[in-house]
Amino acid sequence: MSVGSVRLAVLHGDGVGPEVVPAAVAVAERALAAQDVALETTVLPFGAAAIEEHGHPVPESTLEQLADFDLWLVGPHDSASYPAALRHPAPGAEMRKQFDLYANLRPARALAGVTATAPDIDLLIVRENSEGLYADRNMAVGSGEFMPTPDVALSVGLVTRAASERIAVEAFEAARRRRGHVTVVHKANVLRLTTGLFRDVCLQVAQRYPDVTVDTEHVDAMAALLVRRPADYDVIVTENLFGDILSDLAAELSGSLGLAASLNSSADRAMAQAVHGAAPDIAGRGSANPVATIASTSMLLRWHGERSGDEASIRASDAIDGALAHVLADGVATADLGGSASSAAFADAVVAAL
Ligand code: ATP
Repeated sequence: MSVGSVRLAVLHGDGVGPEVVPAAVAVAERALAAQDVALETTVLPFGAAAIEEHGHPVPESTLEQLADFDLWLVGPHDSASYPAALRHPAPGAEMRKQFDLYANLRPARALAGVTATAPDIDLLIVRENSEGLYADRNMAVGSGEFMPTPDVALSVGLVTRAASERIAVEAFEAARRRRGHVTVVHKANVLRLTTGLFRDVCLQVAQRYPDVTVDTEHVDAMAALLVRRPADYDVIVTENLFGDILSDLAAELSGSLGLAASLNSSADRAMAQAVHGAAPDIAGRGSANPVATIASTSMLLRWHGERSGDEASIRASDAIDGALAHVLADGVATADLGGSASSAAFADAVVAAL
C-alpha cells in the first residue's frame, strides 16, 4: 500500500509529445510505486489539441490549474503549426514567464551504449531563463523586439543583477553537488554592459562559495572548447540565448537531441520538458526517443525530493537514471540511436529494469 503520493500536472503537447510523455509517466509511476509512493496525475489541455477544444494553446483554465501544482511534466509544442494569431507568445514562453521559471538546468552526459562524439562529456548547463535577448519574456508590457520601419529591426537585451544573482546561486549550489567547478560564460568584450554585468555578478556570488572553483569564458571560445575538451567542464552558467545554443551543442556531443533532459524551475515550482521540439517529421510513428522526457522527469523527482526532504522521490530518481543507463547499455534503442525499439517498447524496457 502506498504511504505517500506525488501530484503531477501532465501536458502532452504536440508532435511526438503524446508518444514520449506517457512513456515518462509510466516510468515515473513504476519508480515511485517501488518506493510505496503513488503518482497522481492530472492531464491538462495544451497545444494544438487545446486550440481545437478551447481556442487557445494554453487555455486560461490550464494556467489556473497549473498554479495548483508544484510539479509539471510538459511535452513539446509546435507553434509553427498553429493559426498565425495564436503563434505568439509560444506556449512554453508564456508558462515560463507567468510562473517565473527562471532556472533552466540542462545536463549533458554520454551514456554507455550510445555513440557519442564526446564519450567523456558530463556537464550541466545552468541557463538564465527569464531575460536576456528573449523578446517574449524580457518586457513587462510589449515585446523586446520591434521594427520602427519595415527595414529596421531592433532587439532589447535585458540583464539584471537580481536575475543574474539567483541563477548564479543555482549554478554554485549545483556545483557543490557535482565536481565543484563553475564556468561563467559571457561575451563581455563586445556586450560589455549586459553580459559584463552577468559575469561580474556571478563572480561576486562565487566569493560565497570558496569550496567551488570558478573560471570565465567568452561564449564563442566556449563553443570551441566544448568540442575540443568537453570533459574539462562541470557546471556552465550563462544567459538565456547563449545557454540555449550551447545546450544543443552539448546534447549533440553527448549523443542525440533525443537524450537531452531539461528542468525549468522557480523557487517553488518545477517543469520537466525535454530540450527537443515536437519533431513533426517523425510524429505519429511511435518511434520518438523518450529518453529526454524520462530523464527530465527524473530531474523533476530529484528537485522535488531535495526541496521537500522526500527521500523516496530521490531514490525513485536514482532508480530511473540507473534503469535508463542499464537499458541503453543493453542495446535497446529507438531509431535516432540506430535501434528499432518503439517509444512504448523502450519505456516498457525501462519499467522492466525498474
Ligand atoms: P523547436 O524549435 O521546437 O525546438 P526544432 O524544429 O528545432 O524544434 P525538433 O522538433 O527538436 O527541432 O527536431 C529536430 C530534429 O531532431 C528532427 O529531425 C527530429 O526528428 C529530431 N528529434 C527531436 N526529438 C526527437 C526524439 N525525441 N526522438 C527522435 N528524434 C528526435
